[in-house]
Amino acid sequence: MKIGIIGAGASGLFAAICAARTARQLNKNVQITVYERNAVPGRKLLATGNGRCNFSNASIDGAAYHGSERLFSAVYPQFTNDDAVDFFRSVGLRSFADEAGRLYPMSRKSESVLAVLLFQCEQCGVGFRYGYDVRTVARRGQGFLLNGEEFADRLIVAAGGKASPQHGTDGSVFGILQGLGVSFTPLAPALTAIELTGFPKRLKGVRAQGQVRILTDGKCIARDRGELQFTDYGVSGIPAMTVSEAAGKNAAHAEVVLELVPEIPFRAMLNECLAFRKKFPSACVKLLLQGYLPEKLAQWLPTLADVSPEALLGDLSEGTLRGIVCKVKDLRYPVKTVKGFSFAQVTAGGVDDGAVIPETLACRKIPGLFFCGEVLDINGDCGGYNLQWAWSSGYVAGKNSVLK
Ligand SMILES: Cc1cc2nc3c(=O)[nH]c(=O)nc-3n(C[C@H](O)[C@H](O)[C@H](O)COP(=O)(O)OP(=O)(O)OC[C@H]3O[C@@H](n4cnc5c(N)ncnc54)[C@H](O)[C@@H]3O)c2cc1C
Repeated sequence: MKIGIIGAGASGLFAAICAARTARQLNKNVQITVYERNAVPGRKLLATGNGRCNFSNASIDGAAYHGSERLFSAVYPQFTNDDAVDFFRSVGLRSFADEAGRLYPMSRKSESVLAVLLFQCEQCGVGFRYGYDVRTVARRGQGFLLNGEEFADRLIVAAGGKASPQHGTDGSVFGILQGLGVSFTPLAPALTAIELTGFPKRLKGVRAQGQVRILTDGKCIARDRGELQFTDYGVSGIPAMTVSEAAGKNAAHAEVVLELVPEIPFRAMLNECLAFRKKFPSACVKLLLQGYLPEKLAQWLPTLADVSPEALLGDLSEGTLRGIVCKVKDLRYPVKTVKGFSFAQVTAGGVDDGAVIPETLACRKIPGLFFCGEVLDINGDCGGYNLQWAWSSGYVAGKNSVLK
């Protein structure tokens, strides 16, 4: 039996290994070929986690995932974060969790993850066709014909989504799926930066701890906290990326609220500022704010309350100081849009749970067709959740492509 896999990314490589191991256990003669349009495998995998590959998380539940809950609950328990750690350890890769529970290879290098996956593929006799762009898939008898020339009895689509096309994922596979009659939910960029109307360009490059909330009609629909990165168009960094899907879906009437110095509640911060003013009336307001924030923010924030950053604290009323602290705690900008697929880390939307059998990831309508990874209608938060999905779904699709 021939199994074809479209995509040598995280999920495709893992599906190849799991299919090969299942075939070996069952003593089945299976030939596996992975078709990859790039000249090399795992290009996106190498870029993950800033080159360090945050490959899973020590604490995983459905709340970290968006899209189809049915897919998550049917697939994840079959291959969990512990299974991922055990698998990598069993093939020679040690890992560790950082203070936020993010799992990384001990080498802190994504090359290590790719290297062990490729070695396992080699051990299992998986074949590769690099520089092979699958443009058409036609059904031939019980199987599939790729580009009118390559036959596969079973086909696993592990071609990713539409995010980060510079790594080979331009979403063209969805055109192929459409041709086969496979349904998918609308695709949108997720884990991306948020463009804001009227955001000051001068804050570009500033990083600060903060909380970001997305409001629609005054109601908070998403929030996260961590290091914000300001850009010349708006806000990025992990918390902004986490709430970007909600911002993008509601861009026409959403507002971003940034709270700086989130560790200290408003009243406590105001009291501290008043006490500082009493002690050092000849200090300027910029110096006061520099005790909490990077210089560029300390320079800019007073101007929002019509106060010069050089104004002396002794000359400021309690009301004026309160106005400045209010700005620290509540900066509001309308959402203009979110950055598109070329900036986004993942794709929201994809092959829906009506098109697949969630327990096996087999296509309901077309026997022999399977899906794994980001091509499915599920996407996770930052923190290793997306690669964990690649492993979990790669395991299920790989195994079942041999069993079914
Ligand atoms: C910059 C960046 C950093 C990230 N960091 C993290 C992180 O630290 N932790 C985390 O969990 N997630 C991270 N992600 C997300 C994670 O990388 C993806 O969710 C994951 O790689 C998806 O795996 P996949 O196998 O579904 O798809 P991909 O890894 O995207 O692989 C799909 C492969 O299919 C190939 N392909 C597509 N179409 C065709 C075709 N028609 N013919 C042949 N080949 C084709 C592509 O070239 C590609 O190699 C990051 C993403 C980006 C962009």
